[in-house]
Amino acid sequence: MAETMIPKATAKRLPLYYRYLNFLANSGTTKISSTELSEAVKVDSATIRRDFSYFGALGKRGYGYDVMDLLKFFKKILNQDRLTNVALVGVGNLGHALLNYNFRQANNIRISAGFDVNPDIAGTIQSGVPIYPMSDLADQLRQQQIEIVILTVPTDAAQGITDDLVKAGIKGIMNFTPLRISVPGYVRVQNVDLATELQTLIYFLDHYGPTLKDTDEDE
Ligand code: ATP
Repeated sequence: MAETMIPKATAKRLPLYYRYLNFLANSGTTKISSTELSEAVKVDSATIRRDFSYFGALGKRGYGYDVMDLLKFFKKILNQDRLTNVALVGVGNLGHALLNYNFRQANNIRISAGFDVNPDIAGTIQSGVPIYPMSDLADQLRQQQIEIVILTVPTDAAQGITDDLVKAGIKGIMNFTPLRISVPGYVRVQNVDLATELQTLIYFLDHYGPTLKDTDEDE
């Protein structure tokens, strides 16, 4: 099965399906129709069927989907059966908020190390997470086998730190800075620019009003 071939838009919806299926399983529901699933996750049922079709025929006509089967399936695809350790660089306001955010509840992700240049923070424990000085970056990432880093540093520090992260063998960066950081082809970057997102929302509201349908379709 070629997991890497699925469209980005489909990949983005997988955690959504997974969360809801988990909820269903916990409440003892054993099967669900694509219409019910569609209403719950607010994705139209044709899209759901097409998303699921990338993984083979998972549903039976007139029966719907078996919740446990689907759940097992998504667990594997999303790597939910193993805990992923992630590091966070830059323990400022946003960094603190992310340290406090319970990623694990939904996704089996844990921020296991923080890094900061500020000597007042380095060497302390914040929200249960040890914060290390930048001089420990490469060592700690290696020791803890961390391959993913959340970047919440000031913009002017972002590229320099990115270069260090790449040297340290990091494979993925969740970039909260507005800078489009440069990385070699084998490193993946996910940009999360909150200010731009908010600006986009304001732009759409100003120009099209609140009823514009979200068309987050396959890019
Ligand atoms: P935020 O943007 O997260 O709200 P803030 O306004 O609290 O943050 P920033 O100046 O953006 O502070 O810095 C975020 C964090 O990044 C701070 O804790 C700061 O000490 C840290 N930081 C700044 N420069 C570096 C660097 N070169 N390496 C590592 N950490 C750094």
